[in-house]
Amino acid sequence: MHIEVQIEIPDYVNKLMAKLNDAGYEAWCVGGCVRDSLLGRIPEDWDLAVSSLPPETKQVFSDYPTFDVGMRHGTISVLSEGHTVELTTFRMDGVYSDARHPDSVQFSNSLEEDLSRRDFTVNAMAYRQNSGLRDPFDGLRDLETGLLRCVGIPAKRFSEDALRVLRCLRFSSTLGFAIEPETLQAAMDARGLLEDVSRERVRDELQKLLCGTDAAETLRRNSEILFSLLPELAPLASCNYETLYHRCSVWEHSLQVLSAVSPNPLLRWSALLHDCGKPACKRAPEKGTAHFHGDASESEQLAGMILKRLRFPNRDSDRVCSLIRYHGEALPLPEKRLKKLLGEFGGDWVFELFSLMRANLAGQDTNRLEEHLTALRDSQELAETILSRQDCLTLRDLAVTGKDLLSLGYHPGPALGKELSFLLEKVLSGTLENDRDILLQEAEKTRS
Ligand code: ATP
Ligand code: MG
Repeated sequence: MHIEVQIEIPDYVNKLMAKLNDAGYEAWCVGGCVRDSLLGRIPEDWDLAVSSLPPETKQVFSDYPTFDVGMRHGTISVLSEGHTVELTTFRMDGVYSDARHPDSVQFSNSLEEDLSRRDFTVNAMAYRQNSGLRDPFDGLRDLETGLLRCVGIPAKRFSEDALRVLRCLRFSSTLGFAIEPETLQAAMDARGLLEDVSRERVRDELQKLLCGTDAAETLRRNSEILFSLLPELAPLASCNYETLYHRCSVWEHSLQVLSAVSPNPLLRWSALLHDCGKPACKRAPEKGTAHFHGDASESEQLAGMILKRLRFPNRDSDRVCSLIRYHGEALPLPEKRLKKLLGEFGGDWVFELFSLMRANLAGQDTNRLEEHLTALRDSQELAETILSRQDCLTLRDLAVTGKDLLSLGYHPGPALGKELSFLLEKVLSGTLENDRDILLQEAEKTRS
């Protein structure tokens, strides 16, 4: 792969760099934006390393909106033409006594020193228009061969900040890079330190890892690191299905499903965790195939615990758990069932469920696969039809309201709610038409 060392810096970043230069300071693009530009990818955001101290940076940008994101660490955010750019003073990290935060940060006037505190060689390059690339750790060579290598002594770097262990896997997954052997060994050795890293930071890194194009392969190769973070998943590796559908381990199947769903974060989490309760439910008779009674609810429960520990917002955790709960529904889904799910969870959720179901089928090795795929396609088409017909799916869509029932002589209270639900059931099953007169007539009948 030939990499042109010419980086297109957006105007809104160039303006900030020029302003700092005019004031007599150095400014360099660093880290992810240099790495991604050299790979021909569009950087998520642009970070600058600057020689000015935080108060000086603020002074230079006194006519711009700025935010103190981490004054102590030397970072000021500047809003430039609608984009936030982080400007961090060249720095060296002090001693790390807790494997998470440096005890102190020392500002430096050397770019090289600043680059040497960065995690991987491919993240330790700096660029500016007139000087070109600064690459003291051969990051460009590693970028060309697709290799993640620590800056400095790997064991030391991971023990300073254990999150780097996960960042290493994350970049391997998103960039498709191999991990240099000494770096890999040190990451393995430091995996126990991840326990002390904040759960939110772990969650964010894990999620980026899961959404990478090489997520399954990265986790396959480094399962022990993941299992030390999520010990609930370790039993999956030694639990084989022994069913007609799969012969492999639950872990291998989970990875196959993971790589078969689109990189939507919650869908990826659902895929990773969809069968996590199977080992606890496995019963393998001497004769015949194994069975896993109650595994969907066990998986849902276990997934809920894992996501709670990782500080997921309830809304996200509920979504993953409900996808897990229903992923094993028999196909094709009857119309009434489909309408219930559409009413309760909405169209987007139902199509995510179908994606999970389809991915779950992908690894099956039976001659019934075609039949299952057809049933899935039929259910999907039916869901589309129901949505395009704008069928009644919830109490909100019902042609009668609580008010209507009150005027029939119902009293406010449980009986009224029960009647509305009863009418909705009848409409969902197609027994009654969603027509005001018909429904009022039915409600009258119940009351008398
Ligand atoms: P992306 O923004 O695409 O997720 P990135 O490489 O920009 O990737 P950031 O978390 O934005 O990652 O960090 C910016 C840069 O800061 C990194 O490229 C790296 O040089 C440095 N960095 C970030 N976190 C660490 C860390 N834990 N240890 C050492 N250096 C780090
Ligand atoms: Mg970044």
